[in-house]
Amino acid sequence: MHTGLYHALDFTVDGKSLDFLSIPFSVDRSPYYQVKVPVCRVRNGTGPRVLLMAGNHGDEYEGELLLGRLFRRLDPARIRGEVTILPAVNAPAVMAARRRSPLDEGNLNRAFPGDPAGSPTFRLAHFLEHELFPRHDVVFDIHSGGTSMAHLPCALIERQGTPDRLGRALELMRALGMPYGFVAENGATAPTSMAAAARAGVLGISGEFGGGGTVTPETMAYTARAIDNLLITVGLTDAPVLSDPAPVPDQMQLLQLDSHRQAIYALRRGWFEPAVDVGARVAAGDLAGWFHDLTRLDQQEEELRFQEAGIVISRRLHSDSEAGDCLIQVARPVEEAGILARAA
Ligand SMILES: [Zn+2]
Repeated sequence: MHTGLYHALDFTVDGKSLDFLSIPFSVDRSPYYQVKVPVCRVRNGTGPRVLLMAGNHGDEYEGELLLGRLFRRLDPARIRGEVTILPAVNAPAVMAARRRSPLDEGNLNRAFPGDPAGSPTFRLAHFLEHELFPRHDVVFDIHSGGTSMAHLPCALIERQGTPDRLGRALELMRALGMPYGFVAENGATAPTSMAAAARAGVLGISGEFGGGGTVTPETMAYTARAIDNLLITVGLTDAPVLSDPAPVPDQMQLLQLDSHRQAIYALRRGWFEPAVDVGARVAAGDLAGWFHDLTRLDQQEEELRFQEAGIVISRRLHSDSEAGDCLIQVARPVEEAGILARAA
């Protein structure tokens, strides 16, 4: 009763249901407290099985808001197959408007494969990887840059598994209709949801859909279109549910981060002023920004220069920075043939 994670979901029932994953965790305020993670199910017979999740990091809002709206709008009679929706998967982090859970400082996207006897975030990760993910064909985990970071709007997959599987992931990623597609290199044992999906035998798709701890009409529009495109592409629905115009996939520029030289880090306390924003195309040696020191007003601000060429994929939003903070990152544009050749 005091460990594990339990639920009363029946995966064979058609229709629409709203339930909870319950994780017992005794706290000062409430000896028999349970973390309640909302879980929505919509099912209509057999067909594609899709898991949609957001709130892996609590302060990334496009997915959280749109997956709630999707659950309210989805009509079971108009789908084929089943969809499980977790709009606030690390619920304590969402309620605290934080990246990590305040209960255990758990970062869910660094907690896989989890631990059934661990703290709440690790028990949740264990349940997702070992019990929930394997019941699906596709897992779509919706992220953004969070409170501290601006991010280029991009779909994301990890380079996992066989070339055939990678090819299917690339195809599904392109179908989202996002302007950029980021192919991450985290390895088979990575603590991320995408590596967890690969270990669970499920196709994992993710993306960074905004940032700054907020949403905009633009970020909501392309996230809505990406969710609709995914559901239509896998055959779960035949018309958009969240976006008004008929979705039309755009050309997608593929990007990779594969070297620490692509990032500029703070090496001491300072204040970061960017010279370029996300989306800028830069050459090696170009000015990335300036690092000011408000405690040494007689010192020139330091010029920061890119070591590698590419497209600026993320930058820190908080000016105030400490040693170890990533200030700005530049990704390398790549072609699909190059990615598939490396997987072979
Ligand atoms: Zn995230």
